[in-house]
Amino acid sequence: MKAAIIAIGDEILIGKTLDTNSNWIAGQLDSIGIDIDQIIVTRDEEQYITEALDRARTECRLIMITGGLGPTNDDITKKVISAYFGRPLVFNQKAYDHITSYFCAKGKEVTPTNKLQSELPENCIPIKNIFGTASGIWIADKEQIFVAMPGVPFEMKPMVTNELLPMLNDHFDLPVIIHKHVLFAGIGESFLADKLSEFEAELPPAIKMAYLPSNGIVKVRLSSRGEDSQLIAESIDAQVTKMQSIVPKYIFGYDEDTISEVVGKHLASNDKTLAVAESCTGGYIAHLITSSPGSSEYFVDSIIAYSNEAKEEWLGVDPEVIEKYGAVSEEVAKAMAQGVMIRSNADYGLAVTGIAGPSGGTEEKPVGTVWVAVTGKDSVYGKRFMFGNERMSNIVLTAVNGINLLRKVLIR
Ligand code: ATP
Repeated sequence: MKAAIIAIGDEILIGKTLDTNSNWIAGQLDSIGIDIDQIIVTRDEEQYITEALDRARTECRLIMITGGLGPTNDDITKKVISAYFGRPLVFNQKAYDHITSYFCAKGKEVTPTNKLQSELPENCIPIKNIFGTASGIWIADKEQIFVAMPGVPFEMKPMVTNELLPMLNDHFDLPVIIHKHVLFAGIGESFLADKLSEFEAELPPAIKMAYLPSNGIVKVRLSSRGEDSQLIAESIDAQVTKMQSIVPKYIFGYDEDTISEVVGKHLASNDKTLAVAESCTGGYIAHLITSSPGSSEYFVDSIIAYSNEAKEEWLGVDPEVIEKYGAVSEEVAKAMAQGVMIRSNADYGLAVTGIAGPSGGTEEKPVGTVWVAVTGKDSVYGKRFMFGNERMSNIVLTAVNGINLLRKVLIR
């Protein structure tokens, strides 16, 4: 059971829009056991769309199309599909009812242009669009299924999750597929791969393993497919337990967990609070922490002390310490963490100071040098990191590794 995704749109091909739809749809199909054979991006012209359909249908039983379903002249997907399958556009009552209820909910009248959107290829099934007027289209042609969806991501995504995945599950005899993600921080992909090489070699053949590194976090995905979901889940869980015994200290969570959420839960369940002092991350750590719902329970304060003066004035860092060791140093990071913790009357202080770049580096402290400190009521811990030359990546890595250092202090 193989699928193709066709993303339609000139704006993708000229680099104005990133084709995130295909990426997202691929993940959704994969999660229900459908293999993606190909992703095609094509211009919104009849000849190109037709060629893409021809190509996809030679290999795949499911073809998912996104883009060009809107009401304007440049949206030609519906017309091309109608011509391709020789199914004329006809009024579709179900699609019209969707459009009417969409406008009713907004207290608006259906315009003639919108009414035209209820014309769909004959003998298709309309797929409800709760955030727009362009219905999705499901066409069964012999053994193959063709689905067309809008390009606008917030219209397409609920259409897939609410309507299409259940329809695909009903239509195809899909295997059970289970993925388990184990999340690592504080270790790079290649070091982790070394530690897990024997584990990987000993995996049962039915379980596949993949490394998915991104922004300082490495996700290790274990996947298996078959017919009995309980058996599959048990065999994956057994491997996760084995993995935990090999690299326990780097694992911070599973599946959809985020590191800030994990740290937040730890603080909340121990009735502890946190204050943060940020230099090179400019507030990004506070942003990550406050992105978790319920963070007000444990997060009390954040100070962005970018200049030396701010570090002195707001965090009480001794100017002589800055003068002697430099703003990017263990001593200053520790003084910042201590300062923000005392000032905010928090149980823990987390501070970062570093050279994000691209300028500002020296031979002794090149761009990417970062000091992180974590203080508790009677403990102070500092660690140096050496990241790379890219500013945004340094900011993200500092934040993630800073929060991870706090996690390690908390679980100790
Ligand atoms: P509309 O009713 O807005 O015309 P549509 O189904 O015709 O919807 P398009 O015109 O193809 O969709 O795209 C509308 C917008 O959706 C694009 O400008 C772009 O922002 C986004 N979009 C389209 N295709 C993709 C894609 N493959 N990945 C991410 N975003 C996309």
